[in-house]
Amino acid sequence: MHHFHYKNESLHCENVDLSSITDTYGTPTYIYSAQTFRDSYQRLDKALAEIDHEISYAVKANSNIAILHLLKELGSGFDIVSAGELYRVIAAGGDAAHCTFAGVGKTDEEINYALDQGIYCFNVESIHELEVINSLAKAKGIKAPVALRVNPNVDAKTHKYISTGKAENKFGIDFEAIEGAYAHVAANLDSLEIKGLQMHIGSQLTQVKPFEEAVNKVLSLVRMLKDTYAIEFFSIGGGIGIVYEDALASGQQSWWDKQTDEQRPLTPELYAERIVPLLKPLGLKILLEPGRFIAGNAGVLVTECLYEKSGKSKSFRMVDAAMNDLIRPALYEGYHQIVPFKQSQISDKTLIGDIVGPICETGDFFCQSVELPNIERGDYIALMSAGAYGFTMASNYNSRPLPTEILVDGDEFKVIRKRQTFTDLIAGESV
Ligand SMILES: *Cc1c(COP(=O)(O)O)cnc(C)c1O
Repeated sequence: MHHFHYKNESLHCENVDLSSITDTYGTPTYIYSAQTFRDSYQRLDKALAEIDHEISYAVKANSNIAILHLLKELGSGFDIVSAGELYRVIAAGGDAAHCTFAGVGKTDEEINYALDQGIYCFNVESIHELEVINSLAKAKGIKAPVALRVNPNVDAKTHKYISTGKAENKFGIDFEAIEGAYAHVAANLDSLEIKGLQMHIGSQLTQVKPFEEAVNKVLSLVRMLKDTYAIEFFSIGGGIGIVYEDALASGQQSWWDKQTDEQRPLTPELYAERIVPLLKPLGLKILLEPGRFIAGNAGVLVTECLYEKSGKSKSFRMVDAAMNDLIRPALYEGYHQIVPFKQSQISDKTLIGDIVGPICETGDFFCQSVELPNIERGDYIALMSAGAYGFTMASNYNSRPLPTEILVDGDEFKVIRKRQTFTDLIAGESV
């Protein structure tokens, strides 16, 4: 569910006509819906009401400080993967004591910064990392809070680049080795405090089964850790998927009502219905690390059509956004529904073609061989479901300034990040 829809035949975010934004701020521009962020957060929070839980929003999905501030106001904690993300959380008014720090390659500088800021917990991914955190904490005369990330070796049934819970992935400590790792901490690493257990099996999961399988697999381990080390939390990670295919229609409840049980994408209610009964008897605090679920459908990337071209076998529309602005299609075949600003431009004829950006890479496309909207030079489109892993993955490739970010809230909108200037582009460089 989200708040992008047609009103009077033109595409709106909440009550704001998107063309009123592009008229002033141009393109390419990310536009986010504050109410969609609130709705997703609160819906998930409510679904888990029966258990002691905390939502640790995965900052890497969308890390603009206005978004972090909005989530903090709702009560969210944060899952971070770098010191830079911790810096952002603090700049947004968030509390380090509600941050968990994930990732396989934390540097000494990052660990020291997180220790100084007093984060809630390091989610540690190897024995070697445990030893480094132990010695850095010892040098400060403090104890570092740690949880180990277990790799449960389950198949998340998602794209291979976003699957993280199989034994062959680089993430976490093997299921078979995890008990030994905790024993090693307890026996030898006296500047560490054992706080919990963490796992995260992958991203964009649209079925509940892999989550169930992973939780079931580690339940007895969690019980043992609670009895032996008095852990206080179990983090079940993020990964709840969103709707990409029918993104626009999925903003309406009627679309969800129409789906059969087999078609229905994962909802917070179904997730909770199957997971909560497994977790409740543990009597632990449960952490969740959703990123995409909170941010994905809350944002679009809007872009203007520059050129049309009809080749021998295909038609093309060249737009002013490119893979540097939104890399998901090029990186992992990510799909984004193309929605014209004017409802009348939704294709009624079958003109099949590609929408491509200006960058000199064959991978610079937003869609390939799809039914194109009837757009020509000067028309605008929105690439739906771009709120997560959109701007945060953007780069300056081809010396293209990073796009503007705008947050809509009800009847109003504000710029939450200005478009980069040429001066920004070369900041820090010298001849
Ligand atoms: C990326 C990541 C998440 C968030 O994943 P989503 O699919 O966006 O929910 C959560 N936890 C960890 C450890 C991650 O690396």
